[in-house]
Amino acid sequence: MNYISTRGASPSCSSAEAIRRGLAPDGGLYVPESIPVLEPEEIEALARVPFADRVVSILSRFLTDYGQAELRRMAEEAYAEEKFVPSPAPLVPLNIYSDRMYFLELWHGPTAAFKDLALQILPHLMTAAMHKSGTEKEVRILAATSGDTGKAALEGFRDVPGTSVVVFYPAKGVSDAQRLQMVTQEGANCRVVAVEGTFDDTQAGVKEIFSDPEAAEALDRSGVFLSSANSINWGRLAPQIAYYFSAYADLLAAAPKPPLEPMQMGEKVNLVVPTGNFGNILAAWYAMRMGLPVNKLICASNRNKVLADFLRTGTYDRRREFYRTNSPSMDILVSSNLERLLFELGGRDADKVATWMKDLGDKGSYAVDPATFRALSEVFVGGFADEQGTVKTIREVYDRFDHVIDTHTAVGFNVYERYATRTGDTTRTIFVSTASPFKFAGTACDALFGNGYSRGRSEAVLLDELAAESGMEIPAALAGLAEKPVLHVTEIRPVGMKEEALRPF
Ligand SMILES: *Cc1c(COP(=O)(O)O)cnc(C)c1O
Repeated sequence: MNYISTRGASPSCSSAEAIRRGLAPDGGLYVPESIPVLEPEEIEALARVPFADRVVSILSRFLTDYGQAELRRMAEEAYAEEKFVPSPAPLVPLNIYSDRMYFLELWHGPTAAFKDLALQILPHLMTAAMHKSGTEKEVRILAATSGDTGKAALEGFRDVPGTSVVVFYPAKGVSDAQRLQMVTQEGANCRVVAVEGTFDDTQAGVKEIFSDPEAAEALDRSGVFLSSANSINWGRLAPQIAYYFSAYADLLAAAPKPPLEPMQMGEKVNLVVPTGNFGNILAAWYAMRMGLPVNKLICASNRNKVLADFLRTGTYDRRREFYRTNSPSMDILVSSNLERLLFELGGRDADKVATWMKDLGDKGSYAVDPATFRALSEVFVGGFADEQGTVKTIREVYDRFDHVIDTHTAVGFNVYERYATRTGDTTRTIFVSTASPFKFAGTACDALFGNGYSRGRSEAVLLDELAAESGMEIPAALAGLAEKPVLHVTEIRPVGMKEEALRPF
């Protein structure tokens, strides 16, 4: 299967080439030429196999220049038992007496956020792509992060031969735990740089470096090739499609005691996705187009609600105040992956997409045509939660269901509750739980022990108290962070990003 650019001005290429490049040369994003569809029996068959096989089943339909055995080896290594404890993507009922609501917990990996699911396998896909292209070059991964991608990319690529990784994060835009996780990163091929500005500034900076011929030339001379670990890379997105199928397969495999009802193949589910760069929910949309029975995709934003407004009005307008919230991984005003969805729903009209993206760049906004807006509205439901609402929801979910959830997952739950009240929808619903609550321990403690509780208490104390209250274990990734030596202290303005990206290791 070949890949084409959403902006139509780059030649099509193989899946390995799309992964190797990350961004298409015309500035667009790669999408598969066609979308494979699974028969109901094929989805049912997934219920009988382990997670790694489910991933292989999905990936092999998209990454056709990788061998089946090759993909299996990669998946088995990426999702090995010692990396994901107890498993990569467990589906957990909110309440054992109900068969209506589930968390899809995607934070049991090495960095305690869902980014691990894709970034544990991406280095395998990337190094194989380099070999397939026949180049001997080193691949340098540039990543802009709103907090979780950075650490997951560093962990994924650390000491992988033939690769290096440079992570840019907004200096004041990540949680304490997220920052500590990154600045204590070990590995001779890892570099972490704080940037004055927002995530949008760092993402724009990275995109600029990608389309800078001078940068490419300079690196080329030193035998380095640039690629991306952000969800603009199809190699990030494809593995994420797999866990939606996995969740559905788990529902099919469950044998609940009456009066709870087992799920029949074909029954539709809602997917609630806390959204920032639109990667995770786009993967859910692809899953739906591939035959996964989906009722609604609920796109939940925090106070940076550019997507909620877009889904309500059809106008995307990034000209607005930017807020630092308690769900920092979603503090984003330019959601890159929306471009792929607009390409698909707008009749795969690359000229149209290129015009919208140009308007976004030049004017800061664009409005989609009525047909595209109608197609969007059929499936997507938007909504947002502010910081107070997020804290309140963490408290409420704890009281009602005895689960402590993180701030991002809480944004999803908050938006869903209002949707369900408004519509009376009782469809089975899967909440994507994107991070461990320990990653945002301050806010979790404020929710559980009272407003302002976290003020003046150290991260280590908050972790301990959260563990004691919730009965959950502190993830290995976060325990002892405060004692680790800080290895990365560089802080720059956005103009300095290119130099940091090019500087030899
Ligand atoms: C990255 C992230 C999100 C947003 O996901 P997108 O794919 O960028 O929409 C939500 N929650 C957490 C915890 C994240 O790390």
